[in-house]
Amino acid sequence: MTEPRRLAEPVKGRCLCGAVTITVEAMLAEVDICHCAMCQRWGGAFYAGVKGDAVTVTGEKAVTVYRSSQWAERAFCGTCGSNLWYRFLPTGSRSFLAGLFDLPSDFGIERQIFIDEKPDWYDIVQDSPKLTGPEVIAEAMAQGFSFD
Ligand SMILES: [Zn+2]
Ligand SMILES: [Zn+2]
Repeated sequence: MTEPRRLAEPVKGRCLCGAVTITVEAMLAEVDICHCAMCQRWGGAFYAGVKGDAVTVTGEKAVTVYRSSQWAERAFCGTCGSNLWYRFLPTGSRSFLAGLFDLPSDFGIERQIFIDEKPDWYDIVQDSPKLTGPEVIAEAMAQGFSFD
């Protein structure tokens, strides 16, 4: 697999009220989409996340972080309610809501996961790898993570 393209310039995003800003450096030029039932309940539909290397968050005191499952935590702005990020606890990796940022137009989709939990009322037409929930869990377990 080739390493996806990264943006040369840092990208700055913010929540709806502006209390929280997030700057991501070397952002990967593609979004990661999750159709799982938890993400639907969290944000109303699918989750679209972006990630990169160095991250700077300002307005941390407005951020509420909670444990959304045994393997993840999610964060939102306590003032405006904008969702901010998802952190996968076994690796510590964090992705941020794509909608917080003004992204260039040539972003792609890395892949869509939990495609088996996607409701019928929307479709994302761009061709990208699509994995079911069991396939995602099998992949995580193959990387050594246990869901017990
Ligand atoms: Zn806010
Ligand atoms: Zn999800």
